[in-house]
Amino acid sequence: MPTKLSRRDFVRLCAGSAAAISMTGFLAPYMSEAVAAGAPPVIWIQGASCTGCSISLLNTVHPDIKKVLTEVISLRYHPNIMAAAGDLAMQEMFKVAEENKGNFFLVVEGAVPTGADGLYCTVGEEDGHHITFEKLVTTIGKKSKAILSFGTCSAFGGIPATPPNPTNCKAVDQVVKDVPVINVPGCPPHPDWMVGTIAHVLLYGIPEMDTFGRPKMFFSNIIHDNCERRQYFDNGIFAKTFGEPGCMLELGCKGPIAHCDASTRLFNGGVNWCVKSGGVCIGCTEPQFPAWPMYERMAEMPVGPATTVTVDQVGIVLGGLAVAGIGGHLVGNIATGRIGSKKEDVEKEGDS
Ligand code: SF4
Ligand code: SF4
Repeated sequence: MPTKLSRRDFVRLCAGSAAAISMTGFLAPYMSEAVAAGAPPVIWIQGASCTGCSISLLNTVHPDIKKVLTEVISLRYHPNIMAAAGDLAMQEMFKVAEENKGNFFLVVEGAVPTGADGLYCTVGEEDGHHITFEKLVTTIGKKSKAILSFGTCSAFGGIPATPPNPTNCKAVDQVVKDVPVINVPGCPPHPDWMVGTIAHVLLYGIPEMDTFGRPKMFFSNIIHDNCERRQYFDNGIFAKTFGEPGCMLELGCKGPIAHCDASTRLFNGGVNWCVKSGGVCIGCTEPQFPAWPMYERMAEMPVGPATTVTVDQVGIVLGGLAVAGIGGHLVGNIATGRIGSKKEDVEKEGDS
């Protein structure tokens, strides 16, 4: 695929892109060039979802979403955005999939309901019979070059799969086998994570991923390591109610175990992110989301290989050292080993 941007520079750009830089705007010429040269088309389908991921994509600011959809991504089917509807639209989707067998990317938004043979979510009709979303994902997915699971529902099951899960919703990679699946979680994902992942597969192929199938260029960082309230944490100052200054840990913040770069990339065109807006990080990019107490502090925190401590223990250590006048960052680093241990470390702890 013709491009003047090396993969290394691309990944560095994506990983380092901050609010001041329009990642999509920078990538647009390269992606337009690829699309003009015949890059694989993209089909976007929706199952058990709230459409929030699509809304987030529509928040792409530079360039505007119209340019992204018509020139930057060869998007050939999207149930909300396209003008056509019903059978006409479905037939076009099947046609694009058949004509580009093995050479198109399938974006899936939403979990896959598998209960009652998938009848909880039907997306059309064929020969007088329902087409279930489960069947659509399976048949179209198997023809694709790779599946991009956008949003935590699609990547890990998310809200629809939360117990008791009466529709038996599953993540896409639990339903479709033998096709590469790239998970881009988030509730919703940042537009850059979605456009950047599409750009990577169009220009360079499958990106490097972590153990949960997330592109490392967006999901390597621990929120807690780049949080503007980190100094409060290191000094043992914790907010007790919303609106107070202080670290939000006591109010349920999952920043110490959540992987994403929202604190440096910022949402809404570079304006805000979860903790900056006065909320907690709810860990929306993690497989456990949202099946954990959202606004209760975590009982345990990973502090390094083979070790977990209760949040109380962390608080006692931090509080004691802060009183002793030891510098905040030193306190935090000693006590936590930079608490944001990578997911791999957390998994090793679980194995040990
Ligand atoms: S616990 Fe949450 S609010 Fe506190 S420093 Fe970490 S990420 Fe920021
Ligand atoms: S900071 Fe937390 S809640 Fe916000 S997008 Fe990242 S993981 Fe989700």
